[in-house]
Amino acid sequence: MLKHKHLIAGAWVAGEATFDNAPVSGAADQFAVATADHVDAAVRAAEQAFLSYGNSSRQDRAAFLRAIADELEARGEAITEIGMRETGLPQVRLDGERGRAAGQFRLFADHIEVGDYLDRRYDGALPDREPLPRPDLRLMQRPVGPVAVFGASNFPLAFSAAGGDTAAALAAGCPVVVRGHYAHPGISDIVAQSVAAAIKTCGIHPGTFSLLQGGDNSIGHALVSHPLIRAVGFTGSLAGGRALYDICAARPEPIPFFGELGSVNPMFLLPAALASRGASIAAGWAGSLTMGAGQFCTNPGIAVLAKGSDADAFSVAAADALSKIEAQVMLTDSTASAFRSGCEKLQSATGVSEVFGKSCEKRNVTPHLVTTSGENWLANELLSEEVFGPLGMIVVASDTDEMITIANTLKGQLTCTLHMDDADTEMARTLLPILERKAGRILANGFPTGVEVCDSMVHGGPYPASTNFGATSVGTMSIRRFLRPIAYQNIPPEILPADLI
Ligand code: NAP
Repeated sequence: MLKHKHLIAGAWVAGEATFDNAPVSGAADQFAVATADHVDAAVRAAEQAFLSYGNSSRQDRAAFLRAIADELEARGEAITEIGMRETGLPQVRLDGERGRAAGQFRLFADHIEVGDYLDRRYDGALPDREPLPRPDLRLMQRPVGPVAVFGASNFPLAFSAAGGDTAAALAAGCPVVVRGHYAHPGISDIVAQSVAAAIKTCGIHPGTFSLLQGGDNSIGHALVSHPLIRAVGFTGSLAGGRALYDICAARPEPIPFFGELGSVNPMFLLPAALASRGASIAAGWAGSLTMGAGQFCTNPGIAVLAKGSDADAFSVAAADALSKIEAQVMLTDSTASAFRSGCEKLQSATGVSEVFGKSCEKRNVTPHLVTTSGENWLANELLSEEVFGPLGMIVVASDTDEMITIANTLKGQLTCTLHMDDADTEMARTLLPILERKAGRILANGFPTGVEVCDSMVHGGPYPASTNFGATSVGTMSIRRFLRPIAYQNIPPEILPADLI
């Protein structure tokens, strides 16, 4: 079933070297290692494909997107089977994520058929206008060209080879070259087979989608440096995203880099809500914090509250709820060891004490809970950094004014959450405009780990949550990243793009 090769312009291509995946159990599979020549071949094919694919009709692209969704579903069992081995994620999660990945393609198919995303504008000619006539002006969004896509380890389907970035770029009319993630090459392999099958069925140029596996960071560097790549969609760590962003900015011709990075997603527990239902918020938090072994970019890592007996009770309830959670398998050995060292670093930081924690080993992890004062959190930047995994921190402010100071000090976040009752409305009204400047999504009385794929979703935020605060990587608005507006002045109708007539 697995091809073990790169997919480049419709051909399955091996290389001289191979690498092993690292399954949770069972024998490893070997996959081809990409070289700079593979990068060049894939990007050149994407540029060739753009000539036809970039000018294809919305109806043809919608049919292609739906065919990809069908092909992903047809391979559902195989994807889940290799996915469970490679990632340790349970069947229900992988089945659900595959449904989301297929759903994204169908959502984009509907979206481009409607056509609002083209943002068509028309200022008709005014030949008699004084002192100067006005020309005929029409505006429309057009695809940017070949797009490089990097997925993250923790969403092997929804943010990977055929995840949201790929769906958005293909919907826009942009060919895609995917840098396959080393943590799940088998999943990427089957997913690429799905896209290749849809390309064949729909008669699309084979250069429209390529997948490159393995190799070190130099492959990603070569991909974003390639002069024919016009934009990059990236989901992953702050360190990786920043390295690639800097390369994009330093190119002779800089290109946009849409990086969706890490976040600690603070929750603010306002006094009345904390007093009336602190224990149930604590239980909900423990569930959100440990879902998928805490490997979510929207994991609510920090709870901010004001000191007092309600804060003490919240801490006890959160520790109690976390103590009932069994050890979970992380995505890779290195993710688990990075989590352990992140916990150790925090626990040994000045003014931080452990509330709950158990030791764990190898790829297994158990939740950890630490606490610190608001004053200490404000004084130590390390405490605001993401530790990827099931780690929670309770930040105990001296009073509600200090909670507001903490909100003002936050770095950019994917989400911020308010837990509030009616009696908290005034404080919430003060916090909302502050949090608007910090996050892409603000929630009340919920937990941010589920991200709805729809028209109104924003999954992004000010740096370091993402590298472009004006963009989202989830939902239909994410298509905008791979489009650019073009004004057509006095262009005869015979040569205007069909969508503009
Ligand atoms: P990662 O280590 O940054 O890897 C993501 C991709 O970036 C991989 O393909 C990796 O390829 C590449 N990469 C990393 N460092 C690079 C470098 N210096 N130069 C070139 N390429 C580089 O991230 P991850 O561990 O897979 O994912 C976990 C992180 O993603 C967490 O921080 C999580 O919060 C974040 N995340 C964010 C979102 C979001 O939407 N904001 C969603 C999911 C996850 P190589 O194999 O070449 O290293």
